[in-house]
Amino acid sequence: MSDINDWFPYPKYRPHQEEMLNAAAGTARQGGVLLIDAPTGSGKSSVVSALLAESSGRTILVAVRTISQLNTFIRELDMIRRKKAGLKFTYLIGKRGMCPLGGLGDVYRRCEGVKTFTNALMRERAMKGSLVPAQDPEIIKQIKRQDRENPIICPYFVRSRVFLEGDEGLRLVPSQEIRKKAEKAASSVVNPDSLHAYAGGLCPYDMMITSAKNADVVIVNYHHLFNDDIREQLLVSLNVEAKDLIILVDEAHNVGDVVQGIQSVSLDERDIQQASHELSSLKTKVKGVEAVRHVLPRIRDFMDGLRRSTEVEDWFDPAIFDRILTKGSLYPSMAAIVEDIIAISDAIREKSLQNADFRESAIERLCEFLFRIHCSATDPAYLTLFRKDDESVILEVRNIDPAGTLQEIATAHHALLFISGTLSPLESFRQYYFADLPVTTLSIPNAFPQKNRLLLASEDITTAYRMRQDKGNIDRTIRMITAFSGHPGNLAIYFPSYQIMADYAARCRLMKKKVFIEPRDAAEANELLAEFLSLPKKKKSGILFAVCGGKWSEGLDYRGDLLAGAMVVGLPLAPYTQVRAMAIQYFKRKFGKEGEFIAYTLPAINKATQALGRVLRTPEDRGLLILGDSRFLEDDVKAGLPPWMQQEMKPVTADVAEGIITRWR
Ligand code: SF4
Repeated sequence: MSDINDWFPYPKYRPHQEEMLNAAAGTARQGGVLLIDAPTGSGKSSVVSALLAESSGRTILVAVRTISQLNTFIRELDMIRRKKAGLKFTYLIGKRGMCPLGGLGDVYRRCEGVKTFTNALMRERAMKGSLVPAQDPEIIKQIKRQDRENPIICPYFVRSRVFLEGDEGLRLVPSQEIRKKAEKAASSVVNPDSLHAYAGGLCPYDMMITSAKNADVVIVNYHHLFNDDIREQLLVSLNVEAKDLIILVDEAHNVGDVVQGIQSVSLDERDIQQASHELSSLKTKVKGVEAVRHVLPRIRDFMDGLRRSTEVEDWFDPAIFDRILTKGSLYPSMAAIVEDIIAISDAIREKSLQNADFRESAIERLCEFLFRIHCSATDPAYLTLFRKDDESVILEVRNIDPAGTLQEIATAHHALLFISGTLSPLESFRQYYFADLPVTTLSIPNAFPQKNRLLLASEDITTAYRMRQDKGNIDRTIRMITAFSGHPGNLAIYFPSYQIMADYAARCRLMKKKVFIEPRDAAEANELLAEFLSLPKKKKSGILFAVCGGKWSEGLDYRGDLLAGAMVVGLPLAPYTQVRAMAIQYFKRKFGKEGEFIAYTLPAINKATQALGRVLRTPEDRGLLILGDSRFLEDDVKAGLPPWMQQEMKPVTADVAEGIITRWR
């Protein structure tokens, strides 16, 4: 055990930061779960210094969602190392961002496939005495000859490994070069954008995994933590037991959606067609191919039946799906179908790898879907639903409750800390994420000077469905937007949906600023955003019309004069579909009345506070913030806002808004 001050890398603490670090240190020491709601500017990333002070030899895993969060922790740990020489840290961002080998198909599968080929070749050559694959003329010749568009030998892996001869025969181990580079990577700073150059001819992923083995802190992306298979592999690679890990999850308000996304699986009509082709091309004798071939048209018939529905998204009864698949077939139950499909899927996977085809097969997808539907039949945390996209029907087994996964992670590891600037209300997040597990919570006040911000809440506008076509409400909303748009500098307005955004973009005539409307296409959105952000330097300004929870509302850091104000028009509740109603019912059964708030209102409040949170990123930033919906003033919604917002929000009407905004400038 050491003192936090030995690790804390700054001359002094920010307001309330010491309290936050003490709480984190306590959890690292005793174990358990801690949720911290800490607004921007509270110095959240320094929590890692408290964990280091109390790690007692345990490895610290920091899970981040974006490269910009990763860079924040790299900077923080580099600062700590200036005080505590010898600190080792590294990161893993997933093979998609790390693998330099080209080729088609999924990067993980391609890696698995080429490594199987490469290993076999290297071993064959090693048996003939060639223990350093990178120097073997035959391997070099084969690498030169291979099709670069479709490689089957990985030269980066070849250079990263050597064979050692021992009593147990030949052992493939990391080469001295990769070990040296890995060691240096953990003791210096290798930013993600210079990783490939640093690795040279070696496999960057392998190098960083090697460096992670002896690191005090390993920064990983969310998938390394929340995907059960990847997490288990990671523990094996690091050679650590789960109980010896302290985990810190940054931007933890995203965790629910991420876990649900990982646990959900979907299947579309093209998958069924493709699965049928794959079965026809399977020459190997595998039990059940014919029987499964007869099941596929039944799934297609089921989808055809759903096409006639007038809903774009709705629940389907898994018992009917089960009956349609099994009735009159050779199978007594869904379990029997799943059993055969698993065997077929394995055979297809093997065949694909042999043919250097690294794409996921449709049979594998079908297998995963049927397996999930079978397992989830008795688990209410999963809903079976269909979506209609133009004319095509997509079936989905959707997870709606991340608590099962998060409880497992929390109990398996020594300590788990969730931190975010928008984990408010903490009690709701605690219930949603961990249900009845004992969890400690801490809420940190806003440390930025209050004089630098004005927070208004509209009393007389709303996007509530019953008022959407109300002329008076529309006029007042336009007046509120116009008053807001008169504030100097770059501004952003966030709407609950693309449709409402487009509606108001067409109705508002904002002459003083260039208007940027969020497109659905990501590349176009990036280009427009870059232009918007370049305006302040040219002494110009613009206004974003964007969507809450969209591409311009989260994870972006609009520092200084890049954004002078943000307005949220409407409480961004998700559309109230049958599926949403079932999710609300599920949480009501679980938590009573609070369940409806958790399932429906909480995500909307979070999207709104995330969007407004783009403006004030440093203590010097000044900003105008507007909650443009009277529902934010209602008791249950207001109580869900961060405490500083509840205290500071000033109710306004569209009539007086312009005067108040002008006076505040
Ligand atoms: S071994 Fe490394 S370089 Fe080769 S395919 Fe896998 S991740 Fe890519």
